Amino acid sequence: MSLIKTQLLVIGAGPGGYAAAFYAADRGMEVTLVDREPDPGGVCLYRGCIPSKAFLHAAKVLSEARDAKELGIVFNEPRIDVDRLRTWKNDVVSKMTGSLGLLARHRKVTFMQGKATFINSNTVSIQQEGESRQEVQFEHTILATGSRPVSLPGVPDSPLILNSTTALDLTDVPPSLLVIGGGYIGLELGTVYAELGSKVSVVEMTPGLLPGADRDLVSILEKRLKTIFRAIMLTTKVVKIEAGPQNVKVTFETADGKTSEETYDKILVAVGRKPNSHDLGLDHTKVKITPQSFVAVDLQRRTTDPSIFAIGDVAGEPMLAHKAAHEARVAVDAISGKKTTFEPKAIPAVVFTDPEIAWCGLTEAQAKQENRTIAVAKFPWGASGRAMTLNRTDGLTKLILDPDTKRVLGMAIVGPGAGELIAEGVLAIEMGSIAEDLTLTIHPHPTTSETIMEAAENFFGHATHIYRPKKT
Ligand code: FAD
Ligand code: NAD
Repeated sequence: MSLIKTQLLVIGAGPGGYAAAFYAADRGMEVTLVDREPDPGGVCLYRGCIPSKAFLHAAKVLSEARDAKELGIVFNEPRIDVDRLRTWKNDVVSKMTGSLGLLARHRKVTFMQGKATFINSNTVSIQQEGESRQEVQFEHTILATGSRPVSLPGVPDSPLILNSTTALDLTDVPPSLLVIGGGYIGLELGTVYAELGSKVSVVEMTPGLLPGADRDLVSILEKRLKTIFRAIMLTTKVVKIEAGPQNVKVTFETADGKTSEETYDKILVAVGRKPNSHDLGLDHTKVKITPQSFVAVDLQRRTTDPSIFAIGDVAGEPMLAHKAAHEARVAVDAISGKKTTFEPKAIPAVVFTDPEIAWCGLTEAQAKQENRTIAVAKFPWGASGRAMTLNRTDGLTKLILDPDTKRVLGMAIVGPGAGELIAEGVLAIEMGSIAEDLTLTIHPHPTTSETIMEAAENFFGHATHIYRPKKT
């Protein structure tokens, strides 16, 4: 066993951890980054954002080819080479993680592969391949150990029962698939499997898909999902799962207590994630854990132990890669003594279904819950020239405004490419923009970004492509 001394140790090399390590190195710190994987990337690159988006791109190619019929272009039935598709996805992942490894070396960040466990507030033990173990002593550490999938009680151990990680391995396309959970992962991976040819059913225990998003947007997505999914069961619970050698029998219970049974070739459990705050030896430090198992942090991402910071999924909701990367900079700045705080006005959320749903800032549902008076301005994509030319008028752009100051408080978009468009909303909110700022900004034509400008124009009653009869 050897002892290494480092100024900053970053534990976990996901989008939070590697962003922190690289930024700290750029700012002149001497940095060690540790992860169990051979290269930086974390869940996001190895088994999250990137592989799922690669598959969703393939799904989009399939759906666009199918929809082309309406334009008079007819392709033959697609032949899907699952092995080739998986290899392509794996190539995307390894190119990206390999490049991050290279970026770490260029920056002189010491990358160590192994599992870190705290010995005390300034020392961790790194268990490496085999028996080999090293101790690292640090001035500060940033914990960025991420999260893992939640399972359901009573779910049997079977290769026919998948979580997001095994679903992304894409060993085959099962003839039928039940997705438990109508959240981000359930709908994104459900879309992938449905487009690849599985008969996908989704069961969600709450009354609607994507509980965090506004209903007017979700209903537009749900309408299209109904055309690719075999069934969407809402307000329904899975009460029993029995795995056989060939298939899985599931018992459902609806709100009125009625039960029913159905058999599927595979099941995907996507009911949320939990923070990796256990199994780290944090009891040897002064770090406090919240009742939800997150590491408790202040606005600078400092834990209750002065030498330990925490960022990303392990430090709280929302569990999103861009939130982790932003916190990384706050924590590094705090360590280097800069005045800084994590107080974003808006963190964008994007669900990469088809159509995509994206929102940021205040939602209508949240305003209602908080009893806040808001003004809502909408622009339906049926009135957008660009949406017409894409043959995709199933979209809506919505602004949540302060009725007195006309400040943009929130933005929500459903439609193809909504995830790219929402960045304008985040900037508008961060800059304290008012509705006029959006109307006075020249948006390129023909693009779906014009729907943001026209939603703001509609707030004033003069959107060019919407006719509103004058009140007499
Ligand atoms: P992680 O990315 O979870 O990385 C943590 C790292 O820490 C891991 O590499 C792990 O090996 C390492 N680690 C843990 N414990 C130890 C230890 N003791 N010692 C050493 N290393 C350790 N977010 C988005 O913003 N956009 C998306 O499109 C998106 N898609 C997703 C799709 C899926 C299927 C999933 C599962 C998640 C998705 N997410 C998405 C969420 C996103 O992946 C996470 O929010 C993000 O990865 C969190 O980053 P992080 O740095 O906190 O940790
Ligand atoms: P989620 O919280 O988004 O959705 C889980 C869903 O499962 C919820 O709708 C919940 O009501 C439902 N549910 C819970 N228990 C259930 C049960 N017993 N039966 C039926 N339904 C049940 O969680 P997820 O989809 O697992 O994703 C985890 C997290 O990963 C997300 O919250 C998000 O932070 C992140 N993620 C982000 C993206 C993205 O940014 N595009 C993509 C994937 C994952």
